[in-house]
Amino acid sequence: MGLLDGKIAIITGAASPRGLGKATAQLFAEHGATVVITDLDLAAAEAAAADLPGAGHIGLVGNVTDKADCEAVAQSVTDALGRIDILVNNAGITQPLKLMEIAPENYEAVTDVSLRGTLYMSQAVIPTMRAQGAGSIVNLSSVSAQRGGGIFGGPHYSAAKAGVLGLTKAMARELAPDGVRANAICPGFIATDITAGKLTDEMRAQVLAGIPMGRAGEASDVAGCALFLASDLSAYCTGTEVDVNGGSLI
Ligand code: NAD
Repeated sequence: MGLLDGKIAIITGAASPRGLGKATAQLFAEHGATVVITDLDLAAAEAAAADLPGAGHIGLVGNVTDKADCEAVAQSVTDALGRIDILVNNAGITQPLKLMEIAPENYEAVTDVSLRGTLYMSQAVIPTMRAQGAGSIVNLSSVSAQRGGGIFGGPHYSAAKAGVLGLTKAMARELAPDGVRANAICPGFIATDITAGKLTDEMRAQVLAGIPMGRAGEASDVAGCALFLASDLSAYCTGTEVDVNGGSLI
């Protein structure tokens, strides 16, 4: 028996083969969920869905910064599968810029995907979750929001991910009476395409020195946390932020 038997889950930005979204989709499918993978490229989303264990998973194209796209994804899922139990707002981009290097278009690009995208996709599924009287929304924030920066993201990324934390708490407060929960995950340094190839050996050693557990996280470490927050194991948790960072903030 899986923790998500019979559940319908949408995971945004989950086509990246080594990404947190794909690892989460894999674990959710192993636990019995029917998973809808969305991403910018339809073929990649379909291929990622086809790669999951079990049958019935779906890949859809969807730009989370486009409200009409988000609504179309939610409509497609309710038309095809009848309900939406879980939304993981995973899509995100980074830009390794310093404060004074951030141009308006940089600010817009980064905040649009993480913050506007989280708002738009949540707005798209909330009517269905409210009507069901149940739902779990899991938002990907970052350790960058908590410690004011990191090597990859840039200050605008920290700001966007801090915004995701505020949005998560506000959503949790407003949606709790309707039976809908919202929680955030703050991953630390996780080995995915977002971090791959962006560190010199010296930078990598410096990053690892700041992690008490002495290793980078794996995508599966974040997926396990997402499974907890998506499932009834966390039935009394809402508005929380869970650190998955090997002790980086101790
Ligand atoms: P990734 O780059 O591997 O995957 C991100 C995915 O988002 C890609 O498939 C990309 O196509 C998709 N995407 C980008 N813009 C999109 C848009 N407008 N609409 C829909 N999809 C879009 O990244 P990842 O490392 O798996 O990160 C996943 C999430 O976790 C992100 O929100 C990231 O900021 C966050 N995070 C990652 C780390 C880390 O160390 N990897 C740490 C903290 C937080």
